[in-house]
Amino acid sequence: MPEQYILLPAAEHSIDPDAIDPRSRDIIKRLQKAGFQAYLVGGCVRDLLLGHQPKDFDIATSAHPEQVRKLFSSCRLIGRRFRLAHIYYGRDYIEVATFRAPHDTGQQGSVDAQGRIIHDNVYGTLEEDVWRRDFTINALFYDPVSGEVLDYIGGLEDLRARRLRLIGDPQLRYREDPVRMIRALRFAARLGCSLDGETGHLIRPMANLLDAVAPARLFDELLKLLHGGYGFRSLQLLEEYGVLGFLLPLTDESLELDQSGCFRRLLETALQNTDQRISEGKSVMPPFLFAVLLWEQVRVLADEIMEEEGCPEVQALNLAAGEIISDQVQCTAIPRRFSNITREIWTLQPRFSYRELRRANTLFNNQRFRASYDFLALRAEAGEGEEVMADYRWWTEFQQARPDDRAALCAPSARKRRKKRKNKSRQED
Ligand code: ATP
Ligand code: MG
Repeated sequence: MPEQYILLPAAEHSIDPDAIDPRSRDIIKRLQKAGFQAYLVGGCVRDLLLGHQPKDFDIATSAHPEQVRKLFSSCRLIGRRFRLAHIYYGRDYIEVATFRAPHDTGQQGSVDAQGRIIHDNVYGTLEEDVWRRDFTINALFYDPVSGEVLDYIGGLEDLRARRLRLIGDPQLRYREDPVRMIRALRFAARLGCSLDGETGHLIRPMANLLDAVAPARLFDELLKLLHGGYGFRSLQLLEEYGVLGFLLPLTDESLELDQSGCFRRLLETALQNTDQRISEGKSVMPPFLFAVLLWEQVRVLADEIMEEEGCPEVQALNLAAGEIISDQVQCTAIPRRFSNITREIWTLQPRFSYRELRRANTLFNNQRFRASYDFLALRAEAGEGEEVMADYRWWTEFQQARPDDRAALCAPSARKRRKKRKNKSRQED
């Protein structure tokens, strides 16, 4: 373990003390006063040095979880594999982790036959904590009281060069935790970093290790990738490094078979819109993202079902949705509360062809109308065909019209048509 490190005093880096969550500074002060070492660590130090606003402020300390709990009355300890302290401020909390040693130097840490970490709760020193982190730029420590940055591993140099480099032996580190490959692509997309040597080269040949990762964890990672504000660039990297097929095999297949380019346009436009919304601070919804990612498969399967079984489109879409979602969750687990909404967005699509006022109003008042209309707009923009475009135009006009004028846009209802015919025939009598 090298004892050498770079210590950057406050005057020599650009961290803005005002960008630091004052609560995290207070926690660190209190830990230090009690005789422990305590630092901000990981992504927040990286982001502060880059002038970005960090998402969360993680603290690393020499105090053991029980010792942290004694110091803070609002502290709760969580986790078995990683014992962590959460210090609460209302519903919000700040995470405090005890320094840990890399799994292979302690007695309790261990890996399975594939080299994956299965037990990781080995406390260590600050110097050891550096080595168990993933990338050099994620292993910087910052003391907000003294203003000093500590770098044991060349993270500052890599940050300056916008270079992402795994700490230690890259093969071993990806084997220990294959999710680091996805994290690598996420940071590359978000920070505009290049992937250094083997950190990048090993991803394609090792991506199959992602098969063994729990589908629920992959779901979390996928959302961070595609809903992190850099979804479009992330998709490009997922394809470039051959990872897409291990996260979204059905989407990967759709892109491969997409001769017209229509599905690619749908997906890319959706991700660009999502990135734009996030940059404007607007909300985004995971069910919409999955509606886009899986649409081509659902559409094609629904067509097949309609042809084979002669059932109505809404019913065929519903059946196809069930099959495609249950295929997808084997790999990346979409929670049911999301996939139910995804299914609604799909099954409302045929109803945009209705032109009668009563049915149009029912659709307009449906709680999924907005998301479904936005989805229709995407399909029209991607070039899914004249009918889709006509529906999109009609619905745009319908919404823009004053409520009183909407009836004029609509076709007469089947009942009215029947009545008219009857009246006509009576007149003829
Ligand atoms: P973000 O801004 O997306 O939160 P982050 O780097 O802070 O990025 P976190 O998942 O919050 O990512 O993790 C905090 C820190 O914990 C990381 O910076 C890294 O040092 C360490 N870490 C997280 N996940 C891993 C992992 N799979 N392997 C090794 N170290 C990890
Ligand atoms: Mg973080």
